[in-house]
Amino acid sequence: AFFALLILLLIGFILYQSLKAPISVVIQAGHEGRTCGNTGAVCKNYKEVAWNIKVADMTAKQLEAWGIDVRRVPADTLPVRAKIAVAIHFDSAKHICRSGASVGYPDTNASRTFARHWKALYKPCFPFTWHTDNFTDNLKHYYAYHTIHAEKFLVLELGEITCQKQTAWLKPRLHKIALLIAYAIAKELGKQVPKPPVL
Ligand SMILES: [Zn+2]
Repeated sequence: AFFALLILLLIGFILYQSLKAPISVVIQAGHEGRTCGNTGAVCKNYKEVAWNIKVADMTAKQLEAWGIDVRRVPADTLPVRAKIAVAIHFDSAKHICRSGASVGYPDTNASRTFARHWKALYKPCFPFTWHTDNFTDNLKHYYAYHTIHAEKFLVLELGEITCQKQTAWLKPRLHKIALLIAYAIAKELGKQVPKPPVL
């Protein structure tokens, strides 16, 4: 009984610690792991979720290489606390090529400032439409704002996967885009890291 109690206390302590201590960065690949409901856009050979995973993995890998603690999560996760959370998405549009890039975030000064910093990096390079911030309810009230508790949270729509012109531009740049996201996050954490190559 004594040892059972000890083990229970230990498990409780570990759980408590993992809930209490915020990790630096959570990177979410949008729609990852979903088999029904909102599984992401599919167009011709391109699946949004595959691109989300690719970019999320490369971003996390770069952050780790810079010594930053990262947790890579799928669409649905247990509650977690972080300093910074970034969700990776590509948009789709009924009227193709009418969409493009955008950002979503919770209505806080910290997230709004982070969004401004991200836009300063990506907007000058992205040669297509850019929507106003939080232009859909899915961005404004992103479901994961309630499970991933982050001081700064950004949902990135990196371009429109249903637009051939945009996928032609995006596809060879996915790695550089991931580096740019990692750079934006590292700067937000106050880390000195080299500026990535231009897109
Ligand atoms: Zn999406």
